[in-house]
Amino acid sequence: MIECRNLTKSYGELEAVSDFNLHLEEHEFLSILGPSGCGKSTLLRLIAGLEVPSKGLVLLEEVNGKNVSGPGPDRAFVFQDFALFPHLSIEKNIAYGVNGSRSEKQKRVEELLKLVSLQHLASKMPHQISGGEQQRIAVARALAPRPRLILMDEPFSNLDYKLRLQLRREIRVILKHEGVATILVTHDQVEAITFSERVLLMHKGKLVQAGTPEEIYQQPQTLWASSFVGEANHLSAEWEETSLKSPFGFLDVPAEIGKETRILMVRPEDFILVSAPDGEANGIVKTVEFSGAAQTVGVELKSGEKIQVSGSPHLLWNLEDPVKITAERYLCFNSFGDRLDGFIAK
Ligand code: ADP
Repeated sequence: MIECRNLTKSYGELEAVSDFNLHLEEHEFLSILGPSGCGKSTLLRLIAGLEVPSKGLVLLEEVNGKNVSGPGPDRAFVFQDFALFPHLSIEKNIAYGVNGSRSEKQKRVEELLKLVSLQHLASKMPHQISGGEQQRIAVARALAPRPRLILMDEPFSNLDYKLRLQLRREIRVILKHEGVATILVTHDQVEAITFSERVLLMHKGKLVQAGTPEEIYQQPQTLWASSFVGEANHLSAEWEETSLKSPFGFLDVPAEIGKETRILMVRPEDFILVSAPDGEANGIVKTVEFSGAAQTVGVELKSGEKIQVSGSPHLLWNLEDPVKITAERYLCFNSFGDRLDGFIAK
């Protein structure tokens, strides 16, 4: 329904968004994920029609086949700071963008208050309700004129951790119920991969990788992407005659990949850690971090490299325990940090 073609926005010398291409389907949930300052908000404002591109186009496919750009009632914004009108009651905030008769407005407001489960707050003023409630009302207000696309800029980041998780789930259900397409901008990788069906990873104004949340996490294209999304261990590797030598043993990798491989990436949950007598050990436990549902064990390998291994909190490790490390799954990268391929150990 919306397409960005070679979208570029420069501020003087700085290219905040560079040659960005994007295609969003009707009803799709898309996240734009990247570190602070990478150009996410600028991209969202370009899509909203609030900024004029320096180069490229934003095309909005209309139901009747026409293409338009610039701001319009088909796109609605939800901001980090909620941005409710402070002098209007909750119901008037929601009714603000709705066209039609008084009774039609009233009906839509009631429907939306019910959808966000806040009927009891209709006559309150924004300062009388909590941050989480304000954000649900902001979503209701955005949905009121029945837009086809909702654009959300870090909508959960002003809320505390528990509320953020809860609201993210609730708002996802609400938006799906209304059938709108959604673009969420966030620097929070967990938020991006749990909220959306497709993630666009952005770095320094450019699109780095696009894929499903699983692809972005399990098959990062670059070493940078592997450590931006999730925790990653990067280890040296070198081809020796017929196999790939790694700090956790020789690996069975096809020669054309193994010869190019310089770095292996292993997720903390893809290591297997067992205690081993000194002679068989390839590492020593150096740190143990208990976090309730999981445990992260820091191991120094014989190669001198340090890794983080995550696993069950029920196994007890002591500092200086000799351990044997293997990996169930690893990805190979070349000297430029680009992925060659991934392997699951047999
Ligand atoms: P993000 O949302 O990823 O944090 P932004 O899109 O806000 O990033 O900003 C991207 C870059 O563009 C930053 O370096 C920022 O300072 C710069 N920038 C954003 N808006 C303007 C502006 N109106 N004028 C000049 N520079 C800007």
